[in-house]
Amino acid sequence: MLVVMKAQATPEEIQAVCDHIVQLGFRPHPLPGAQRTAIGITGNQGEVDRGNLESLSGVAEVIRVSKAYKLASRDVKEEDTVVRFNGSSATIGGRNLAVVAGPCSIESREQAFAIAGHVAGAGAQFFRGGAYKPRTSPYAFQGLGLDALKIMAEIRDKFGLRIVTEALDSETLELVADWADVIQIGARNMQNFSLLKKAGRLRKPVLIKRGLSATLEEFLMAAEYVMSEGNYEVILCERGVRTFADHARNTLDLSIVPALHHVSHLPILVDPSHGTGRRDSVLPMARAAVAGGADGIMVEVHDHPEKALSDGPQSIFPAQFASMMDEIERIAPIVGRQLTRNVSAVAAAGAK
Ligand code: PEP
Ligand code: MN
Repeated sequence: MLVVMKAQATPEEIQAVCDHIVQLGFRPHPLPGAQRTAIGITGNQGEVDRGNLESLSGVAEVIRVSKAYKLASRDVKEEDTVVRFNGSSATIGGRNLAVVAGPCSIESREQAFAIAGHVAGAGAQFFRGGAYKPRTSPYAFQGLGLDALKIMAEIRDKFGLRIVTEALDSETLELVADWADVIQIGARNMQNFSLLKKAGRLRKPVLIKRGLSATLEEFLMAAEYVMSEGNYEVILCERGVRTFADHARNTLDLSIVPALHHVSHLPILVDPSHGTGRRDSVLPMARAAVAGGADGIMVEVHDHPEKALSDGPQSIFPAQFASMMDEIERIAPIVGRQLTRNVSAVAAAGAK
């Protein structure tokens, strides 16, 4: 159920409607839009009696949301969600393309700083790096943990890059939330509902990677879990799914980008690194993702991929990353987008 407020509704009227929803035993989710505020209602098992709500002051109409996902749906919020970061011009969603780049794993301070210098020098806004790694083998490198989070916090200070890193479980979630700017929930955890709910109780943007066999609806229901707890800053990331195709690690499903934009206001990034598993496929797929309307790219970059402790074969070299930035910058205006370089990061990288 969704209460659409009149364009001229006052904050007091919006609050009164929220209070009324709480009194009914449900949860109100006020989502301000450019034209008007809509208030999503969750927690109801059956129909909410619309009669009462419709008579409250400032209410334009009460609508039933028929889709399984509600807060993630465009029915509730027409405008694209733009995630912003205090003290930074970086955004995810809207006209500007967001670029998240860095190694699969933080392996050492030297490795992380060297790669961050290249990522910053090319003008990216976000640095990625795994501190806690979800590895298929328990014998493979599991990440440097808290030490890696500290290294990335230093990178944020030095280069002005915002930090994106994965929380693997509820133990690491709070630590990641304390140290990072965006909490990544990995593909293998996309349906870890207790972790999603916990992330929903935090007030930090959450980036959810698509599960290895998740449908569009399952993907959006993962976002809905986070949003239903009151955290509306959710970013989706397509990273390829399992198919019979064996020429690539995964099949990058770019067709989900327009499909998601059609039904949801949430931003969607594309990760061509995990999506293909092949260095030579990353740049073509990054171009295609931007041409297809993605809100940004998440990509793995390594200066010595042959020595990488994880995902070396899919990590692009810094020079390839710089070319990727140039190329997507040229493609962006054709599809009504733009790539704004992080000038302070470029300056910080030049000053080292
Ligand atoms: C990653 O981004 O390094 C990662 C492990 O991604 P995914 O969860 O998509 O496999
Ligand atoms: Mn990886």
